[in-house]
Amino acid sequence: MSRALIIGAGGVAGVVVHKCCQNSEVFTEICIASRTKSKCDALKAALDGGKTKITTAQVDANNVDELIALINDYKPELVINVALPYQDLTIMDACLATKTHYLDTANYEPEDTAKFEYSWQWAYRERFEKAGITAILGCGFDPGVTGVFSAYAMKHYFDEIHEIDILDCNGGDHGYPFATNFNPEINIREVSAKGSYWENGEWIETEPMEIKREYNFPEVGKKDMYLLHHEELESLGLNIKGIKRIRFFMTFGQSYLTHLKCLENVGMTSIEPIEFEGKKIVPLQFLKAVLPDPASLGLRTVGKTNIGCIYKGIKDGKEVHYYVYNVCDHQECYKEVGSQAISYTTGVPAMIGAAMLLTGKWKKPGVYNVEEFDPDPFMDALNKWGLPWKETFTPELVD
Ligand code: NDP
Repeated sequence: MSRALIIGAGGVAGVVVHKCCQNSEVFTEICIASRTKSKCDALKAALDGGKTKITTAQVDANNVDELIALINDYKPELVINVALPYQDLTIMDACLATKTHYLDTANYEPEDTAKFEYSWQWAYRERFEKAGITAILGCGFDPGVTGVFSAYAMKHYFDEIHEIDILDCNGGDHGYPFATNFNPEINIREVSAKGSYWENGEWIETEPMEIKREYNFPEVGKKDMYLLHHEELESLGLNIKGIKRIRFFMTFGQSYLTHLKCLENVGMTSIEPIEFEGKKIVPLQFLKAVLPDPASLGLRTVGKTNIGCIYKGIKDGKEVHYYVYNVCDHQECYKEVGSQAISYTTGVPAMIGAAMLLTGKWKKPGVYNVEEFDPDPFMDALNKWGLPWKETFTPELVD
């Protein structure tokens, strides 16, 4: 029925490809294109023989002309961008030029500045609208499912939501003293940045890891979590009616934090290029090269993730508390698609968002964040495709 072009062949892309093949009624044909074609071919070799027809291609997604040529050649209805945030704008440009729908899982970030925000991508709204094509931004788990959860809470349980706490817990253990569970460069840029949260119409900035809380996560147990800036705070702050405060917390173990501090102290997390043996290198990119590849962590990671949102607000004049979350088991993910739960919890929503678009349930010309669509078919699809959610109206709250 539809043809999708998947850009990227890393940890998340691997899950997207598996899931598209499982959903072959929607994804009749896919092309996997990335910088290193052998990785695309390896994915094809692992999944060929099913109902979805798979092809592969080499592309430098920093190059708009190459992207346009590939899209004109393959003629997909949709491009699923699971490369890196640096490529968001070039891929959106190519989609505009070829009138092709677009979906990603992380907002644009310039390679030379550790700063991410939606302004660059929201600036494409009018052009996508005029071209009659849809862009769905941030359709992983967080951002992604956290926005769908918020739209669902708003639609069914609240007249106004006043506070949202997004809690991202990885209770998994990969056995290494230090490794990141998605692209190390993007992950370390995110967690070493200043924290911030949105309160009463303004951003409050904190030092990195300054605000710490302990939380007893269902099915995982007690963990320390730290307040971070995260991209969905920006869109939910605008799109959720009545919101007064929104925060994002992520759990980190002591070993991860100690290693990160040490790497920071010796300059290994810097993105400023330095001269080394006559060549310019970026310390963080070098660090990425020596750390374990996140795509290789699946086999050795045990334990569970729990990612969800706690809402406080009012319905019919009464205060309501609501917590909705997903628990995902690293080893179960590995058995199903050969990856750990972080790639899984990102790749499954990306496939679902793509299917929503291709089946017309989430299709409207312009550039949108996920909470701007009807959450109900997506919530059903989460249960169907491997990320079932649970809810409670009596959650432990975060102070
Ligand atoms: P990986 O590093 O494992 O994979 C990235 C892939 O993109 C690699 O195959 C890489 O190619 C390819 N790539 C990089 N640059 C280019 C380029 N110029 N042209 C073509 N291909 C390129 O990352 P992940 O799979 O872990 O993450 C993918 C995306 O998912 C990231 O944007 C990340 O931020 C996002 N993410 C979102 C989450 C969410 O919940 N919303 C959670 C986790 C991740 P090569 O193999 O040659 O290096």
